Formats: sequence, structure tokens, C-alpha cells
Amino acid sequence: MPDRSFLDWPFFEDEHRRLAAALDLWAERELGSIDHHDVDAACRELVTRLAAGGWLDHVVLRSAGGAQERLDVRTLCLIRETLARHSGLADFAFAMQGLGSAAITLFGAPALQQAYLPAVRQGRKIAAFALSEPDAGSDVAALATTAVAYGDDYVLDGEKTWISNGGIADFYTLFARTGEGPGARGLSAFLVDADTPGLAIAERIAVIAPHPLARLRLSGCRVPRSRLLGAPGKGFAVAMTVLDIFRSTVGAAALGFARRALDEAPGRAAGRRLFGAPLGDLQLTQARLADMAVDVDAAALLVYRAAWTKDQGAPRVTREAAMAKLFATEAAQRVVDSAVQLFGGLGVVSGHPVETLYREVRALRIYEGASEVQKLVIARRLLEAGRAKN
Ligand SMILES: Cc1cc2nc3c(=O)[nH]c(=O)nc-3n(C[C@H](O)[C@H](O)[C@H](O)COP(=O)(O)OP(=O)(O)OC[C@H]3O[C@@H](n4cnc5c(N)ncnc54)[C@H](O)[C@@H]3O)c2cc1C
Repeated sequence: MPDRSFLDWPFFEDEHRRLAAALDLWAERELGSIDHHDVDAACRELVTRLAAGGWLDHVVLRSAGGAQERLDVRTLCLIRETLARHSGLADFAFAMQGLGSAAITLFGAPALQQAYLPAVRQGRKIAAFALSEPDAGSDVAALATTAVAYGDDYVLDGEKTWISNGGIADFYTLFARTGEGPGARGLSAFLVDADTPGLAIAERIAVIAPHPLARLRLSGCRVPRSRLLGAPGKGFAVAMTVLDIFRSTVGAAALGFARRALDEAPGRAAGRRLFGAPLGDLQLTQARLADMAVDVDAAALLVYRAAWTKDQGAPRVTREAAMAKLFATEAAQRVVDSAVQLFGGLGVVSGHPVETLYREVRALRIYEGASEVQKLVIARRLLEAGRAKN
């Protein structure tokens, strides 16, 4: 039986424990039967099932409007950890419905909230978050897509890339330069329907852990002013507020992959005989298992510390979320790599659980702020404190 003792930690309420247990049962029942060969169809099916199971209610709230504090980040993290342990694609489908719609929840006009949020929650609309561009990934301030005001509309031109759900999304929360100020101070967020004339899928991108991903082209794409999410020029703040909530949950997904790897490893160590004895009798194996377990618990502590801090009402958890995302994703890579090593040749056979984990975990160290960016965020806080002392 996998270790679930972390659920007794004081970060959690009984409702979290009940939810984690119920989701585990649901995931065992619902996720095994999904055919992943057509990744678009699999994602649509996962969104439908997650909605039917009521799980999207936790990431797309019923009562919208200034509801930031009511998105319970511990719940989001528990759901992502549990789903990732069962299926990386299920975690992806869940997370994207939240990431792609959170700016509507937090900053959208009531009419947009009513038109979109129930449909996202019920799995009738698929959401996406379009920030990155070919020359603006880590460097968001370099964003080059423009949105020029013409009467009651904005006209958008440019390119977005690495957009998850690109190609299957019904709408994009999309960031463009409106020019109120230089760099990050001149960005705005828009809600853009996928079928808006002038918005096209320029390329579908295949990645090591397949999921819908695309490059978008915007040419003369006309979007009404009423589709602004937040005030003009405040797009960077919109993006950062959303990422502040979801960054810890990327750590939680990594934790789910790591826990699955740690669930797989002891059985292999006990069952595989080497040099006339179980692999687990070798002290190097024991050291490896111990390192994996420490990494998993340390990651869990940082992830749920960040989530708990946010849920206690902290306006921003930039430092805590950066630490959680950095450590959990890097640790998960180590843990999964160790599991592959323990399985020997079997660990790299296509479709083996640890081979799948090895591919699924990699991108998490890159997106929603690469590890290097998280280190800069953490160091900046320390240096600010140092300067304040002088
Ligand atoms: C699978 C996947 C899904 C994604 N989904 C989305 C999505 O849905 N929406 C979206 O908007 N974007 C998405 N992205 C984009 C993602 O956020 C970017 O890839 C990420 O921000 C990095 O940008 P980049 O790829 O341009 O790399 P770059 O910014 O070019 O970075 C290259 C390298 O430089 C490092 N680096 C950055 N800053 C520093 C520094 N100061 N010092 C030293 N090294 C540094 C980075 O860590 C990285 O190793 C996704 C990416 C992937 C891989």
C-alpha cells in the first residue's frame, strides 16, 4: 500500500483527506480505460470525465468574482498530485481547465464569467493559457504580439508558441502588448475564442510526453474591448496572479510522478534477484531508496507549505511557490531517474510505468517558470531583505 501518511500532516483538514481518498478510488476506476493513442480525443474524454466526477468544480469555482482566496490551493495540489500518480494526461487536462480560465474567474467581467465558467467547469469548453512566444519564454517582458485599439475592438497580430491545449481549446486567455508602458508594464490579457477570424493554428508540436500543444498565429485578429481580462496595461499582473496560484500545483504534479516512482521501486528491489539475493539487500540500493524517500517527503513539505500559506490568506506566496516548484520538480526528476535505474533495461521499455514517468516529468522543470527563473525569484527576495538591513 503506497504511503499516504503525509495526509496526517497539520497542513490538511479532514475534507482534504476525504477528497484525496475519494479521488484515488475514482482515478482507479475511471482512468485506466482511456485510450491515449489519439491524444486530442483522450484529453477531451478526460475533461468530460473530470467534469462528470465533479473534480473541475475545485479548479473552476461556482461563485466567480474576486474569488481568488476561495480557490483552495491545498485541494488543487492534492488533486494534481493524485491525478499525476495515476495519469499524467489526466493531471494535464485538470490543470489546463484551471490555468486557462483562472483569469476569467479573477479578472473577467460578470458577463464573461457567466458565459464561460459554467461551460469550463462542466467540460463543455476547453481552456488554454497563451503567454509564451518564440522570443519570449522566460523573458515575458519581451512579448511581441501586439493588440492595437480600434474603436471598441483590439486588433491582435503576432505569434504564440508552446500553447498547451492549442488545437483543441475552445478559447485562449491570451496576452498581448497594448503599450501603456515599457516591457511588462505594457501588456494586457484577452479572452479570445479559438474560432475568431485571424487566429490560426500554425503548427502542432509533438513532445516527449504527448499532449495537445501548438503554435498560434494571430493576423488581424479582432477582439472586442469587452473581452479584456483586467485593466489595459495590467496583463503582467494578471499572468503573475494566476501563476502564483498554479505554480505550487506544478510542484504537486511533480510530486505525484515522484510518488508513483517511489511506489514502483520497493517491489522491484524486493522481487529482482541479483548475485543470489534480492536487489534490495544491496546497500547501494538501500541508499538509493532512502534518497528517493527523502526527496519525496521534502518536496511534499515544500508544496503543501506553499499551498497552506496561500490558503491562510497570504496575498502572494511568490517565494514559497518558487521553492516548492523548484525543489519538487528537480527532486521528482531525480526520483524518477532512480526508479528507471532500479528497473534496469525494463525501465526504458516503451510504456513501462517508470519509462512513462521519465518522459512525463521532464517538461515541468521548464514551464511556468524554469528552475533557473525560480532560483532568481528566491534569491531576489533574499537580496531585498539584505538591502533592507543596510
Ligand atoms: C510542454 C510545455 C508546455 C507548455 N505550455 C505552455 C502554455 O500552456 N502556455 C504558455 O504560455 N507557455 C507554455 N509553455 C512555455 C514555457 O512556459 C516556456 O517554455 C518557458 O517559459 C521557457 O521559455 P523558453 O522555452 O523560451 O526557454 P528560454 O526562455 O529560452 O530559456 C532557455 C534556458 O535558459 C534558462 N534561463 C532562463 N533565464 C535564465 C537566467 N536568468 N539565467 C540562466 N539561465 C536562464 C532557462 O531555464 C532555460 O534552461 C510550455 C512549455 C512546454 C515545454
